[in-house]
Amino acid sequence: TDIQRLLLSRIRDVADYPEPGVMFKDITPLLADPEAFTALTEALASIAEDTGATKIVGLEARGFILGAPVAVRAGLGFIPVRKAGKLPGATLSQSYDLEYGSAEIEIHAEDLSAEDRVLVVDDVLATGGTAEASLQLVRRAKAQVAGVAVLMELAFLNGRARLEPALDGAPLHALLTVG
Ligand code: 5GP
Repeated sequence: TDIQRLLLSRIRDVADYPEPGVMFKDITPLLADPEAFTALTEALASIAEDTGATKIVGLEARGFILGAPVAVRAGLGFIPVRKAGKLPGATLSQSYDLEYGSAEIEIHAEDLSAEDRVLVVDDVLATGGTAEASLQLVRRAKAQVAGVAVLMELAFLNGRARLEPALDGAPLHALLTVG
């Protein structure tokens, strides 16, 4: 579609970042273009409405930039998932494996309830580890999973398959798919 062409045209490929052999998808040109940023926000907000979400969970840090305007546009609350040690209140914490080592993310569970349906928003789905850990946090907070929505899915990394058990039937929406 025209929107997909616009979004794709504003994503910059950066070779060998953050390490040799990786082609990083840089979304900062998209953020700098008001037409593209607005189109992205509206597309994600319409997914949020279709899934019946009541809350947007955004993943540090680019998921904050995308998720917050989506929440406002769709009239929903926003809940940050942060790297360990950044949230001041009582947190639930989830570790997950990276290629080398592991990472840990946290959420303020008290900002979710059993009535909430959560859409997890991020810029890029790569291996799916971050999104999977976020869904585990949402479930441990006793909220329902409305789905995951990303700007771009890197299909060659098979994140969709990794996410399937945690999604448990909820949808994964990718506005763009590469690979
Ligand atoms: P995963 O956990 O799926 O392997 O990695 C996804 C996380 O890493 C997301 O939070 C995403 O922001 C970041 N990420 C991984 N690869 C890229 C990339 O090529 N471009 C951008 N913008 N983010 C990436």
